[in-house]
Amino acid sequence: MIARSLGRSVVLIEKGTHPRAAIGESSTPLANLFFEGLCKRYELSALSPLAKWGSWQRTYPEIACGLKRGFTFHHHAPGGESSFDCQRRDQLLVAASPRNEIADTHWYRADFDFFLVKQAVERGVDYFDRVELQCFEDSGEKVTLRGVRDGRAVEFCARFVIDATGPRGFLYRALGLSDAGLPDYPATQGLYNHFSDVGRLADTAYGRTDERPPYPVDDAAVHHVFDGGWIWVLKFNNGITSAGVAVTDELAAQLRLADGAPAWERLLMRIPALRAQFAAARTERPFTHLPRLAFRSSAIAGSRWALLPSAAGFVDPLLSTGFPLTLLGVVRLAEIIERDWQSARFSERLREYAALTDEELLATAQLTGALYANMSNFEVFVALTLLYFAAASFSESARRLERPQLASAFLLCKHPDFGPALTRICARARQGLTANDSRQLIAEILAAIEPFNVAGLGRPERRNWYPVDAGDLLDGAEKLGASFDEVNAMLERCGFNRQPAEDSAAMAWLPK
Ligand SMILES: Cc1cc2nc3c(=O)[nH]c(=O)nc-3n(C[C@H](O)[C@H](O)[C@H](O)COP(=O)(O)OP(=O)(O)OC[C@H]3O[C@@H](n4cnc5c(N)ncnc54)[C@H](O)[C@@H]3O)c2cc1C
Repeated sequence: MIARSLGRSVVLIEKGTHPRAAIGESSTPLANLFFEGLCKRYELSALSPLAKWGSWQRTYPEIACGLKRGFTFHHHAPGGESSFDCQRRDQLLVAASPRNEIADTHWYRADFDFFLVKQAVERGVDYFDRVELQCFEDSGEKVTLRGVRDGRAVEFCARFVIDATGPRGFLYRALGLSDAGLPDYPATQGLYNHFSDVGRLADTAYGRTDERPPYPVDDAAVHHVFDGGWIWVLKFNNGITSAGVAVTDELAAQLRLADGAPAWERLLMRIPALRAQFAAARTERPFTHLPRLAFRSSAIAGSRWALLPSAAGFVDPLLSTGFPLTLLGVVRLAEIIERDWQSARFSERLREYAALTDEELLATAQLTGALYANMSNFEVFVALTLLYFAAASFSESARRLERPQLASAFLLCKHPDFGPALTRICARARQGLTANDSRQLIAEILAAIEPFNVAGLGRPERRNWYPVDAGDLLDGAEKLGASFDEVNAMLERCGFNRQPAEDSAAMAWLPK
């Protein structure tokens, strides 16, 4: 759609047919910010309501989605019933939005992607489904793609090909690329399905608490963490729940993950809270087993082709990094098409795109690898996630304040201070940590995030619950090189209400 808006003639080629199921569902504030920015810049006004829960519900109630108010984490000790911990050392709740209206969403991909394809066709994109592409030929002047559709040979000629076919996709195979591997990253597998009749965690004994959490714990990307892996649970508003597990090869072997449904049952038997939540659940289709989750393509772009970040690599669903990385790639490729299509710098810009995409993938893998190494050491796990939340909330605020240069790359991996600190801390966290090492590492993490911390992360009195608090952002104005007034104006634009505060010369901000 963007390429069409920029005057290019576009062919969209799909091997299956829409609507079709796809995995990758949970969005984030940063992902939605990129999405919103693309809609504005390339005049995709029909798409922009999908950037927030409220506008989505009002405009397209027929497109199913889930409400995502934040990131919920629960830690499970092996086999054990969870007991109430008033210090909340077994959980982490990080709010992503102060209220439903402006919240993020889980995309029910069958509906969401079908809608996008229809929009693309309306905007003049030529769409061909049921195409089995077989080869890619670059004559120097143009690219020719050959394949089969309904038993008949088809051929497409193009100046440029963008591959959005996912990991180990079309160009990876057609160009004979290889998997370059993610250094020091554990081998992991996945198993997932869609379910109906899944209960709410808050209704089970595990979720009960005397204090009010910053958002309803199920209206979130829910992560259940245990030694060797984690389970995600995402609830949609059409009665469907997406759930799956990512585990190391070692745990996958114990669970015999390739068995599918019986492996899922074996897993639930280990986690009483989930067993209760899934007691009445029914599967919607056969389980999908992914024998290898992580992937990194040996090449990402050539003179006449580019892989989207989602085709260039994948780490893990943990922290929902797939969409922001992919949308960042879309932002960059769109800029190249817009500014450099006719210029001599076209190839150079593509090389820059490829290098940055690879660096961001590696940074994501460093952090995720460190998280895997500490799934049984939840205090360190929580501290490590703060690297992600600090970088994401800083980047989001910098963009909202129109200072994108403060956060040019995902996870601030190009930042001269944060980038090296992330690498150093993650490398340390991947080694076995004693109790003393853990304490030191947590202190190091808190020091590393401090210059970027605009969300009150790591404050002990919050006991692992982080609401969206406008005061944190105002306190952090200087870190963003912004004045108090600029942050106030940004808060107003972002849907907060200004209220006179009784005990302060300033104003207090409340969610509208
Ligand atoms: C288990 C799992 C969970 C995930 N969860 C999240 C999450 O919660 N949040 C998040 O941000 N990211 C998540 N991700 C990452 C996310 O899936 C991707 O970032 C996202 O799906 C990318 O979307 P896409 O449309 O580019 O690719 P895909 O969803 O992979 O779609 C690829 C499309 O290309 C088509 N295709 C494939 N091969 C060919 C071919 N040869 N010719 C023509 N067409 C072809 C397919 O039919 C499909 O329509 C997850 C990934 C996995 C594996």
